[in-house]
Amino acid sequence: MNFDFDTETEAFRQHLRSFAQTHLAPHYLADGRAGEFHAGLREELAQLGLFGLLIPEELGGQGASKTVSGVVCEEIARADFNAGWLITNALLVSDIINTHGTDEQRKRWLPAIAAGEQIPAIGLTEPGHGTDAGALEMKAERDGDGWRLTGEKTSISLGMHSDVALVFARTGGPGAKGISGFYVPLTAKEVSRAPFRDIGGRPIGRAAIHFDGLYVPQEDMLGEEGKGFTSVMQGFDYSRALIALLCIGAGQASIDEALEYATQRHAFGQPIGKFQGVAFPLVEYATHLRAARLLSYEVLWRVDNGMPHTMEGAMVKWWVPRLAVDAAHEALLTFGQLGYSEEFPHSQRMRDMMGMEIGDGTAQVSKIVVARQLLGREFAP
Ligand SMILES: Cc1cc2nc3c(=O)[nH]c(=O)nc-3n(C[C@H](O)[C@H](O)[C@H](O)COP(=O)(O)OP(=O)(O)OC[C@H]3O[C@@H](n4cnc5c(N)ncnc54)[C@H](O)[C@@H]3O)c2cc1C
Repeated sequence: MNFDFDTETEAFRQHLRSFAQTHLAPHYLADGRAGEFHAGLREELAQLGLFGLLIPEELGGQGASKTVSGVVCEEIARADFNAGWLITNALLVSDIINTHGTDEQRKRWLPAIAAGEQIPAIGLTEPGHGTDAGALEMKAERDGDGWRLTGEKTSISLGMHSDVALVFARTGGPGAKGISGFYVPLTAKEVSRAPFRDIGGRPIGRAAIHFDGLYVPQEDMLGEEGKGFTSVMQGFDYSRALIALLCIGAGQASIDEALEYATQRHAFGQPIGKFQGVAFPLVEYATHLRAARLLSYEVLWRVDNGMPHTMEGAMVKWWVPRLAVDAAHEALLTFGQLGYSEEFPHSQRMRDMMGMEIGDGTAQVSKIVVARQLLGREFAP
Protein backbone atom coordinates (compact mmCIF):
# COMPACT_ATOMS: atom_id res chain seq x y z
CA MET A 1 0.00 0.00 0.00
CA ASN A 2 1.36 3.41 -0.96
CA PHE A 3 -0.52 6.70 -0.85
CA ASP A 4 2.23 8.81 -2.46
CA PHE A 5 2.61 9.75 -6.10
CA ASP A 6 5.94 8.69 -7.59
CA THR A 7 8.69 11.33 -7.47
CA GLU A 8 8.19 12.48 -11.06
CA THR A 9 4.41 12.87 -10.68
CA GLU A 10 4.80 14.70 -7.37
CA ALA A 11 7.27 17.14 -8.94
CA PHE A 12 4.88 17.69 -11.87
CA ARG A 13 1.99 18.25 -9.42
CA GLN A 14 3.94 20.90 -7.54
CA HIS A 15 5.00 22.57 -10.78
CA LEU A 16 1.36 22.63 -11.95
CA ARG A 17 0.15 24.07 -8.66
CA SER A 18 2.60 26.91 -8.84
CA PHE A 19 1.87 27.53 -12.55
CA ALA A 20 -1.88 27.51 -11.92
CA GLN A 21 -1.71 29.86 -8.95
CA THR A 22 0.43 32.33 -10.89
CA HIS A 23 -1.13 32.15 -14.35
CA LEU A 24 -4.70 30.89 -13.93
CA ALA A 25 -6.09 31.88 -10.53
CA PRO A 26 -5.84 35.65 -11.22
CA HIS A 27 -8.18 35.25 -14.24
CA TYR A 28 -10.73 32.83 -12.78
CA LEU A 29 -13.34 35.33 -11.61
CA ALA A 30 -12.91 37.76 -14.51
CA ASP A 31 -13.19 35.00 -17.14
CA GLY A 32 -16.28 33.67 -15.38
CA ARG A 33 -17.88 37.11 -15.46
CA ALA A 34 -16.85 37.75 -19.07
CA GLY A 35 -18.13 34.34 -20.15
CA GLU A 36 -14.95 33.59 -22.07
CA PHE A 37 -11.40 32.50 -21.42
CA HIS A 38 -8.79 35.24 -21.57
CA ALA A 39 -6.51 35.41 -24.63
CA GLY A 40 -3.53 33.09 -24.50
CA LEU A 41 -4.97 30.57 -22.01
CA ARG A 42 -5.35 27.78 -24.52
CA GLU A 43 -1.80 28.27 -25.80
CA GLU A 44 -0.39 28.21 -22.26
CA LEU A 45 -2.19 24.97 -21.43
CA ALA A 46 -1.13 23.45 -24.75
CA GLN A 47 2.50 24.40 -24.16
CA LEU A 48 2.40 22.44 -20.92
CA GLY A 49 1.08 19.48 -22.92
CA LEU A 50 -2.14 19.30 -20.90
CA PHE A 51 -4.54 18.69 -23.80
CA GLY A 52 -2.40 15.86 -25.13
CA LEU A 53 -1.77 14.04 -21.87
CA LEU A 54 -3.36 10.79 -23.07
CA ILE A 55 -2.25 11.09 -26.68
CA PRO A 56 0.71 8.92 -27.71
CA GLU A 57 4.04 10.75 -27.94
CA GLU A 58 4.44 9.95 -31.64
CA LEU A 59 1.21 11.90 -32.27
CA GLY A 60 2.37 14.95 -30.33
CA GLY A 61 1.04 13.98 -26.91
CA GLN A 62 2.52 12.99 -23.57
CA GLY A 63 1.46 9.34 -23.34
CA ALA A 64 0.77 9.93 -19.63
CA SER A 65 -1.19 7.70 -17.27
CA LYS A 66 -4.81 8.26 -16.29
CA THR A 67 -3.59 8.96 -12.75
CA VAL A 68 -1.48 11.86 -14.02
CA SER A 69 -4.50 13.20 -15.92
CA GLY A 70 -6.35 13.28 -12.59
CA VAL A 71 -3.52 15.22 -10.95
CA VAL A 72 -3.76 17.78 -13.74
CA CYS A 73 -7.53 18.17 -13.34
CA GLU A 74 -7.28 18.56 -9.57
CA GLU A 75 -4.46 21.10 -9.64
CA ILE A 76 -5.80 23.20 -12.50
CA ALA A 77 -9.33 23.32 -11.06
CA ARG A 78 -7.93 24.41 -7.72
CA ALA A 79 -6.98 27.66 -9.46
CA ASP A 80 -9.54 27.80 -12.28
CA PHE A 81 -12.34 25.26 -12.37
CA ASN A 82 -13.34 26.11 -15.93
CA ALA A 83 -9.82 25.72 -17.31
CA GLY A 84 -9.86 22.25 -15.75
CA TRP A 85 -13.18 21.54 -17.45
CA LEU A 86 -11.67 22.58 -20.81
CA ILE A 87 -8.84 20.10 -20.31
CA THR A 88 -11.26 17.37 -19.20
CA ASN A 89 -13.18 17.67 -22.48
CA ALA A 90 -9.96 17.23 -24.45
CA LEU A 91 -8.95 14.25 -22.30
CA LEU A 92 -12.30 12.49 -22.65
CA VAL A 93 -12.56 12.87 -26.42
CA SER A 94 -8.90 12.09 -27.10
CA ASP A 95 -9.18 8.97 -24.95
CA ILE A 96 -12.25 7.76 -26.83
CA ILE A 97 -10.53 8.36 -30.18
CA ASN A 98 -7.32 6.73 -29.02
CA THR A 99 -9.18 3.67 -27.74
CA HIS A 100 -11.81 3.21 -30.44
CA GLY A 101 -10.45 4.98 -33.52
CA THR A 102 -8.46 3.40 -36.33
CA ASP A 103 -4.74 4.16 -36.75
CA GLU A 104 -5.59 6.47 -39.61
CA GLN A 105 -8.15 8.38 -37.49
CA ARG A 106 -5.73 8.71 -34.58
CA LYS A 107 -3.11 10.18 -36.91
CA ARG A 108 -5.62 12.54 -38.51
CA TRP A 109 -7.40 13.83 -35.36
CA LEU A 110 -5.19 13.54 -32.29
CA PRO A 111 -2.23 15.86 -33.14
CA ALA A 112 -4.54 18.90 -33.42
CA ILE A 113 -6.02 18.14 -29.99
CA ALA A 114 -2.56 17.70 -28.46
CA ALA A 115 -1.50 21.06 -29.90
CA GLY A 116 -4.59 22.76 -28.46
CA GLU A 117 -5.66 23.77 -31.99
CA GLN A 118 -8.89 21.82 -31.66
CA ILE A 119 -10.72 21.11 -28.41
CA PRO A 120 -13.56 18.88 -29.52
CA ALA A 121 -17.04 18.99 -28.04
CA ILE A 122 -18.90 15.79 -27.30
CA GLY A 123 -22.49 15.62 -28.51
CA LEU A 124 -24.64 12.95 -26.94
CA THR A 125 -27.54 14.71 -25.18
CA GLU A 126 -30.66 15.70 -27.13
CA PRO A 127 -33.69 17.74 -26.13
CA GLY A 128 -35.72 14.55 -25.58
CA HIS A 129 -32.94 12.26 -24.31
CA GLY A 130 -30.43 13.05 -21.57
CA THR A 131 -30.20 10.33 -18.93
CA ASP A 132 -31.90 8.07 -21.45
CA ALA A 133 -29.27 8.80 -24.11
CA GLY A 134 -29.46 5.23 -25.43
CA ALA A 135 -32.79 6.24 -27.01
CA LEU A 136 -31.33 9.22 -28.89
CA GLU A 137 -33.02 10.19 -32.14
CA MET A 138 -30.50 12.11 -34.23
CA LYS A 139 -30.53 10.42 -37.63
CA ALA A 140 -27.52 9.27 -39.62
CA GLU A 141 -28.81 8.22 -43.04
CA ARG A 142 -26.74 6.52 -45.71
CA ASP A 143 -25.75 8.77 -48.60
CA GLY A 144 -23.42 7.15 -51.12
CA ASP A 145 -20.15 6.35 -49.34
CA GLY A 146 -21.06 8.42 -46.31
CA TRP A 147 -23.83 9.57 -44.01
CA ARG A 148 -26.10 12.57 -43.54
CA LEU A 149 -26.70 13.75 -39.98
CA THR A 150 -29.97 15.41 -39.08
CA GLY A 151 -31.21 16.36 -35.64
CA GLU A 152 -30.44 18.39 -32.55
CA LYS A 153 -27.89 18.03 -29.80
CA THR A 154 -28.30 20.13 -26.71
CA SER A 155 -26.41 21.11 -23.59
CA ILE A 156 -23.06 20.61 -25.30
CA SER A 157 -20.04 21.92 -23.38
CA LEU A 158 -17.81 24.06 -25.63
CA GLY A 159 -20.63 23.95 -28.17
CA MET A 160 -20.10 27.64 -28.99
CA HIS A 161 -16.31 27.40 -29.21
CA SER A 162 -15.33 24.03 -30.69
CA ASP A 163 -14.63 23.59 -34.39
CA VAL A 164 -15.19 19.84 -34.18
CA ALA A 165 -17.34 17.46 -32.18
CA LEU A 166 -17.68 13.78 -31.51
CA VAL A 167 -21.38 13.32 -32.17
CA PHE A 168 -23.55 10.26 -31.65
CA ALA A 169 -26.36 9.43 -34.04
CA ARG A 170 -28.64 6.54 -34.93
CA THR A 171 -27.35 4.41 -37.79
CA GLY A 172 -29.36 1.32 -36.92
CA GLY A 173 -32.42 0.13 -35.02
CA PRO A 174 -33.65 1.22 -31.60
CA GLY A 175 -31.54 1.10 -28.46
CA ALA A 176 -27.86 1.55 -27.73
CA LYS A 177 -26.70 -0.90 -30.42
CA GLY A 178 -28.13 1.33 -33.16
CA ILE A 179 -25.85 4.25 -32.25
CA SER A 180 -22.58 5.22 -33.95
CA GLY A 181 -20.07 7.99 -33.32
CA PHE A 182 -18.94 10.57 -35.91
CA TYR A 183 -16.18 13.18 -35.75
CA VAL A 184 -17.68 16.18 -37.48
CA PRO A 185 -16.88 19.83 -38.26
CA LEU A 186 -19.08 22.36 -36.48
CA THR A 187 -18.09 25.10 -38.90
CA ALA A 188 -20.06 23.60 -41.83
CA LYS A 189 -23.04 25.55 -43.18
CA GLU A 190 -25.39 22.68 -42.27
CA VAL A 191 -24.60 23.24 -38.57
CA SER A 192 -26.12 26.01 -36.47
CA ARG A 193 -25.55 26.72 -32.79
CA ALA A 194 -27.31 28.64 -30.05
CA PRO A 195 -25.73 29.57 -26.70
CA PHE A 196 -27.19 28.86 -23.26
CA ARG A 197 -27.36 31.51 -20.53
CA ASP A 198 -25.87 29.44 -17.72
CA ILE A 199 -25.51 30.12 -14.00
CA GLY A 200 -21.93 28.81 -14.06
CA GLY A 201 -19.22 27.40 -16.31
CA ARG A 202 -19.75 30.42 -18.53
CA PRO A 203 -16.42 30.39 -20.40
CA ILE A 204 -17.26 26.84 -21.47
CA GLY A 205 -20.05 28.09 -23.74
CA ARG A 206 -22.69 25.38 -23.44
CA ALA A 207 -24.86 25.28 -26.56
CA ALA A 208 -27.58 23.63 -28.57
CA ILE A 209 -26.33 22.43 -31.96
CA HIS A 210 -28.60 21.74 -34.91
CA PHE A 211 -27.53 19.50 -37.79
CA ASP A 212 -29.43 19.96 -41.01
CA GLY A 213 -28.30 17.10 -43.26
CA LEU A 214 -24.55 17.44 -42.63
CA TYR A 215 -22.63 15.07 -44.93
CA VAL A 216 -20.02 12.95 -43.12
CA PRO A 217 -17.75 10.59 -45.07
CA GLN A 218 -17.51 6.97 -43.91
CA GLU A 219 -13.91 7.49 -42.75
CA ASP A 220 -15.16 9.97 -40.14
CA MET A 221 -17.28 7.38 -38.38
CA LEU A 222 -15.43 6.62 -35.15
CA GLY A 223 -14.69 2.94 -34.81
CA GLU A 224 -17.29 0.39 -35.81
CA GLU A 225 -20.87 1.03 -36.79
CA GLY A 226 -23.20 0.45 -33.82
CA LYS A 227 -20.42 0.66 -31.22
CA GLY A 228 -20.69 4.40 -30.55
CA PHE A 229 -22.71 4.21 -27.36
CA THR A 230 -20.40 1.66 -25.76
CA SER A 231 -17.37 3.81 -26.58
CA VAL A 232 -18.79 6.93 -24.95
CA MET A 233 -20.06 5.07 -21.88
CA GLN A 234 -16.63 3.50 -21.32
CA GLY A 235 -15.17 6.99 -21.66
CA PHE A 236 -17.56 8.29 -19.00
CA ASP A 237 -16.46 5.56 -16.56
CA TYR A 238 -13.05 7.24 -16.67
CA SER A 239 -14.07 10.90 -17.00
CA ARG A 240 -16.28 10.66 -13.92
CA ALA A 241 -13.11 10.45 -11.82
CA LEU A 242 -11.73 13.53 -13.60
CA ILE A 243 -14.93 15.43 -12.85
CA ALA A 244 -14.66 14.38 -9.21
CA LEU A 245 -11.07 15.61 -9.06
CA LEU A 246 -12.00 18.93 -10.69
CA CYS A 247 -14.55 19.37 -7.90
CA ILE A 248 -12.12 18.24 -5.21
CA GLY A 249 -9.55 20.77 -6.42
CA ALA A 250 -12.01 23.67 -6.34
CA GLY A 251 -13.84 22.55 -3.17
CA GLN A 252 -10.56 22.06 -1.31
CA ALA A 253 -9.37 25.51 -2.42
CA SER A 254 -12.45 27.03 -0.79
CA ILE A 255 -11.95 25.04 2.42
CA ASP A 256 -8.24 25.98 2.57
CA GLU A 257 -9.11 29.65 2.13
CA ALA A 258 -11.78 29.39 4.84
CA LEU A 259 -9.33 27.72 7.25
CA GLU A 260 -6.86 30.53 6.68
CA TYR A 261 -9.57 33.14 7.19
CA ALA A 262 -10.65 31.42 10.42
CA THR A 263 -7.20 32.13 11.86
CA GLN A 264 -7.27 35.82 10.80
CA ARG A 265 -10.81 37.02 11.43
CA HIS A 266 -11.62 37.94 15.01
CA ALA A 267 -15.02 38.03 16.70
CA PHE A 268 -15.76 38.37 20.40
CA GLY A 269 -12.05 38.98 20.97
CA GLN A 270 -10.70 35.78 19.43
CA PRO A 271 -10.05 34.17 16.03
CA ILE A 272 -13.28 32.67 14.72
CA GLY A 273 -11.51 29.30 14.34
CA LYS A 274 -11.71 29.05 18.14
CA PHE A 275 -15.48 28.61 17.82
CA GLN A 276 -16.46 25.00 17.29
CA GLY A 277 -19.33 26.19 15.12
CA VAL A 278 -16.74 27.52 12.64
CA ALA A 279 -13.99 24.91 13.01
CA PHE A 280 -16.01 21.68 13.00
CA PRO A 281 -17.82 22.10 9.67
CA LEU A 282 -14.48 22.91 8.02
CA VAL A 283 -12.95 19.84 9.65
CA GLU A 284 -15.82 17.71 8.39
CA TYR A 285 -15.49 18.95 4.79
CA ALA A 286 -11.70 18.54 4.89
CA THR A 287 -12.26 14.93 5.99
CA HIS A 288 -14.91 14.15 3.37
CA LEU A 289 -12.88 15.74 0.58
CA ARG A 290 -9.80 13.77 1.58
CA ALA A 291 -11.73 10.51 1.51
CA ALA A 292 -13.33 11.45 -1.82
CA ARG A 293 -9.90 12.20 -3.24
CA LEU A 294 -8.66 8.72 -2.35
CA LEU A 295 -11.63 7.04 -4.03
CA SER A 296 -11.22 9.24 -7.11
CA TYR A 297 -7.56 8.29 -7.48
CA GLU A 298 -8.48 4.66 -6.87
CA VAL A 299 -10.71 4.85 -9.96
CA LEU A 300 -7.78 6.13 -12.04
CA TRP A 301 -5.41 3.57 -10.55
CA ARG A 302 -7.91 0.89 -11.55
CA VAL A 303 -8.09 2.25 -15.11
CA ASP A 304 -4.29 2.32 -15.33
CA ASN A 305 -4.12 -1.27 -14.13
CA GLY A 306 -6.84 -2.55 -16.46
CA MET A 307 -9.22 -3.27 -13.59
CA PRO A 308 -13.02 -2.82 -13.53
CA HIS A 309 -13.93 0.72 -12.48
CA THR A 310 -17.50 1.38 -13.63
CA MET A 311 -18.96 1.17 -10.12
CA GLU A 312 -16.21 3.22 -8.50
CA GLY A 313 -16.53 5.88 -11.23
CA ALA A 314 -20.27 6.08 -10.58
CA MET A 315 -19.64 6.30 -6.83
CA VAL A 316 -17.48 9.40 -7.13
CA LYS A 317 -19.85 10.90 -9.70
CA TRP A 318 -22.87 10.84 -7.38
CA TRP A 319 -20.90 11.77 -4.30
CA VAL A 320 -18.23 14.32 -5.06
CA PRO A 321 -19.76 17.19 -7.09
CA ARG A 322 -22.46 17.74 -4.45
CA LEU A 323 -19.93 17.36 -1.63
CA ALA A 324 -17.67 19.98 -3.20
CA VAL A 325 -20.54 22.40 -3.85
CA ASP A 326 -21.52 22.06 -0.19
CA ALA A 327 -17.90 22.56 0.89
CA ALA A 328 -17.67 25.81 -1.11
CA HIS A 329 -20.99 26.87 0.42
CA GLU A 330 -19.61 26.29 3.92
CA ALA A 331 -16.50 28.28 3.03
CA LEU A 332 -18.69 31.11 1.74
CA LEU A 333 -20.51 31.21 5.08
CA THR A 334 -17.23 31.19 7.00
CA PHE A 335 -16.32 34.44 5.25
CA GLY A 336 -19.55 36.00 6.54
CA GLN A 337 -20.76 38.99 4.53
CA LEU A 338 -17.56 39.00 2.46
CA GLY A 339 -18.32 35.52 1.16
CA TYR A 340 -21.57 36.75 -0.35
CA SER A 341 -19.64 39.09 -2.64
CA GLU A 342 -18.62 38.06 -6.14
CA GLU A 343 -15.17 39.43 -5.35
CA PHE A 344 -14.60 36.14 -3.52
CA PRO A 345 -14.51 32.89 -5.50
CA HIS A 346 -16.81 30.68 -3.44
CA SER A 347 -20.12 31.50 -5.12
CA GLN A 348 -18.60 31.13 -8.59
CA ARG A 349 -17.04 27.83 -7.62
CA MET A 350 -20.44 26.66 -6.36
CA ARG A 351 -22.15 27.63 -9.61
CA ASP A 352 -19.40 26.18 -11.77
CA MET A 353 -19.31 22.88 -9.89
CA MET A 354 -23.09 22.52 -9.77
CA GLY A 355 -23.05 21.80 -13.50
CA MET A 356 -21.06 18.67 -12.70
CA GLU A 357 -23.93 17.36 -10.59
CA ILE A 358 -25.77 16.97 -13.90
CA GLY A 359 -23.25 16.77 -16.76
CA ASP A 360 -21.91 13.29 -17.58
CA GLY A 361 -24.79 11.69 -15.63
CA THR A 362 -26.82 12.81 -12.63
CA ALA A 363 -26.48 11.44 -9.10
CA GLN A 364 -29.61 9.34 -9.58
CA VAL A 365 -28.38 7.48 -12.65
CA SER A 366 -24.94 7.07 -11.06
CA LYS A 367 -26.55 5.44 -8.02
CA ILE A 368 -28.46 3.11 -10.32
CA VAL A 369 -25.12 2.02 -11.81
CA VAL A 370 -23.75 1.33 -8.33
CA ALA A 371 -26.95 -0.43 -7.22
CA ARG A 372 -26.81 -2.74 -10.23
CA GLN A 373 -23.35 -3.87 -9.18
CA LEU A 374 -24.13 -4.18 -5.48
CA LEU A 375 -27.60 -5.72 -5.73
CA GLY A 376 -27.51 -7.24 -9.20
CA ARG A 377 -29.71 -5.99 -12.05
CA GLU A 378 -32.61 -8.15 -10.90
CA PHE A 379 -32.90 -6.38 -7.55
CA ALA A 380 -31.71 -2.86 -8.43
CA PRO A 381 -33.85 0.16 -9.47
C1 LIG B 1 -22.91 21.78 -17.22
C2 LIG B 1 -23.36 20.70 -18.13
C3 LIG B 1 -22.53 20.28 -19.15
C4 LIG B 1 -22.96 19.29 -20.03
N1 LIG B 1 -22.15 18.93 -21.06
C5 LIG B 1 -22.58 18.01 -21.95
C6 LIG B 1 -21.79 17.69 -23.08
O1 LIG B 1 -20.69 18.22 -23.28
N2 LIG B 1 -22.27 16.78 -23.96
C7 LIG B 1 -23.47 16.17 -23.79
O2 LIG B 1 -23.83 15.34 -24.62
N3 LIG B 1 -24.24 16.45 -22.72
C8 LIG B 1 -23.84 17.36 -21.80
N4 LIG B 1 -24.62 17.70 -20.74
C9 LIG B 1 -25.93 17.08 -20.62
C10 LIG B 1 -26.01 16.06 -19.49
O3 LIG B 1 -25.24 14.92 -19.76
C11 LIG B 1 -27.49 15.74 -19.26
O4 LIG B 1 -28.09 16.95 -18.82
C12 LIG B 1 -27.69 14.66 -18.25
O5 LIG B 1 -27.34 13.41 -18.79
C13 LIG B 1 -29.15 14.59 -17.76
O6 LIG B 1 -30.04 14.61 -18.82
P1 LIG B 1 -31.28 15.63 -18.81
O7 LIG B 1 -30.77 16.97 -18.46
O8 LIG B 1 -32.01 15.47 -20.08
O9 LIG B 1 -32.17 15.17 -17.60
P2 LIG B 1 -33.31 14.06 -17.63
O10 LIG B 1 -32.77 12.79 -18.19
O11 LIG B 1 -34.54 14.63 -18.24
O12 LIG B 1 -33.55 13.86 -16.07
C14 LIG B 1 -34.30 14.81 -15.29
C15 LIG B 1 -34.25 14.37 -13.84
O13 LIG B 1 -34.81 13.05 -13.72
C16 LIG B 1 -33.85 12.17 -13.15
N5 LIG B 1 -33.94 10.85 -13.77
C17 LIG B 1 -33.96 10.55 -15.10
N6 LIG B 1 -34.02 9.23 -15.27
C18 LIG B 1 -34.03 8.67 -14.04
C19 LIG B 1 -34.08 7.34 -13.54
N7 LIG B 1 -34.10 6.28 -14.37
N8 LIG B 1 -34.09 7.15 -12.20
C20 LIG B 1 -34.03 8.21 -11.35
N9 LIG B 1 -33.98 9.49 -11.76
C21 LIG B 1 -33.98 9.71 -13.08
C22 LIG B 1 -32.49 12.80 -13.43
O14 LIG B 1 -31.51 12.37 -12.49
C23 LIG B 1 -32.82 14.29 -13.31
O15 LIG B 1 -32.80 14.67 -11.96
C24 LIG B 1 -24.22 18.68 -19.85
C25 LIG B 1 -25.04 19.10 -18.80
C26 LIG B 1 -24.62 20.10 -17.96
C27 LIG B 1 -25.53 20.57 -16.86
